[in-house]
Amino acid sequence: MFKKILIANRGEIALRVQRACREMGIKAVMVYSEADRDAKYVRLADEAVCIGPASSTHSYLNMPAIISAAEVTDAEAIHPGYGFLSENADFAERVEKSGFTFIGPTPDSIRMMGDKVSAKQAMIRAGVPCVPGSEGALPDDPVVIKRTAKAVGYPVIIKAAGGGGGRGMRVVHTEAALLHAVQTTKAEAGAAFGNPEVYMEKFLQNPRHIEIQILADQHRNAVYLGERDCSMQRRHQKVIEEAPAPGIPRRLIEKIGERCAAACKKIGYRGAGTFEFLFENGEFYFIEMNTRVQVEHPVTEAITGIDIVRTQIAVAAGEKLPFTQRQIQLRGHAIECRVNAEDAYKFTPSPGRVTTWHMPGGPGVRVDSHVYANYFVPPNYDSMIGKIIVHGDTREQALARMRTALAETVIEGIKTNVPLHRELMVDASFVAGGTNIHYLEEWLSQRER
Ligand code: ADP
Repeated sequence: MFKKILIANRGEIALRVQRACREMGIKAVMVYSEADRDAKYVRLADEAVCIGPASSTHSYLNMPAIISAAEVTDAEAIHPGYGFLSENADFAERVEKSGFTFIGPTPDSIRMMGDKVSAKQAMIRAGVPCVPGSEGALPDDPVVIKRTAKAVGYPVIIKAAGGGGGRGMRVVHTEAALLHAVQTTKAEAGAAFGNPEVYMEKFLQNPRHIEIQILADQHRNAVYLGERDCSMQRRHQKVIEEAPAPGIPRRLIEKIGERCAAACKKIGYRGAGTFEFLFENGEFYFIEMNTRVQVEHPVTEAITGIDIVRTQIAVAAGEKLPFTQRQIQLRGHAIECRVNAEDAYKFTPSPGRVTTWHMPGGPGVRVDSHVYANYFVPPNYDSMIGKIIVHGDTREQALARMRTALAETVIEGIKTNVPLHRELMVDASFVAGGTNIHYLEEWLSQRER
């Protein structure tokens, strides 16, 4: 096992990984920007290295600074967390070339999944169902583009191969609008992602977002840890996640889960990963794979009892997965609310000094956050400042626990979206379960009236 790991991230996930290291007897090196100098996890670190100013381009995205921090502290491995450099194949490659272990998949796997066209092709080859659409990237020939759209059937969505974060997509309803939409998306994709390639998919009208968590080791073992329902989204950003997904028959989950695990073995995937699907009319359609730990991993940890971050570290060190698929049992129901430093009505960011910070507790309640009273939320990064996760024997119990947890939560000094979560936890449709990816936006548009 590693003796020392460098954690190339900030905020709650930096603390989450630090805790896993502690538990495993591994020393944790934190890197931080000038804006995060006073963070508690930085003070608690075995070693801490400042890697630059507040701007992430010059700190958390600064590859040479991070690699030299690993060199001067004699770390053996680098955990990238999520966001920042976690899905950057060039970074993974530089880490490995410099003699460190990258806690994640191989640079080739990251590269393959980072390009949505090659990811989709790999999934089709591996027998994972995908949204019907163009075979690979769209050619320039307008006749072929029109013919493809006709075959797929309107509405279609034009998506950038290099897209991410919900950007680089355009829905087309009629042939008259098709060619212009393809041209515009290509131009935007070229400018934003440095890759003008686009592809076409059938636009699904009312899907749910269901994802499968997988774990794989370097000995060709791969398992799936059930699913998560992340349909409660605003502007393609997840707000609430839960596991299992309400109302989806277990045999459907098992069938798709087995396909995902088999795909991992086929492509030689290692580490943690997530297969994201749209789910409509009883069918799963692959949209993309995330090659890292995800924000919402705790709901899966709650229902499986498996520590995903610890397992990431163990398999990166070459260990075999300590469980087989048959040993993975799902128990109860878990829900996560993302706590954001933002106005609960207008969604404008609300950084600043936290004056009061009372977090909930009790059976089945977990809070993952780096924040404390008198902590200053810097304006430079993502607005998510923590997560409240509850686990119960049933979904009803989980909902009741989340309502109690949110009622106990007191955050003052900055605005947060906690009031939004309180409203959603008593909303009839959310409580009934199975809302689609448009539900939250529609709910918000009515709420504002
Ligand atoms: P990104 O990497 O930018 O998040 P995704 O491919 O995961 O891109 O798509 C983001 C979101 O866009 C999905 O969660 C869904 O809401 C919508 N979307 C993507 N593809 C389709 C599709 N074929 N039909 C309907 N909605 C889609």
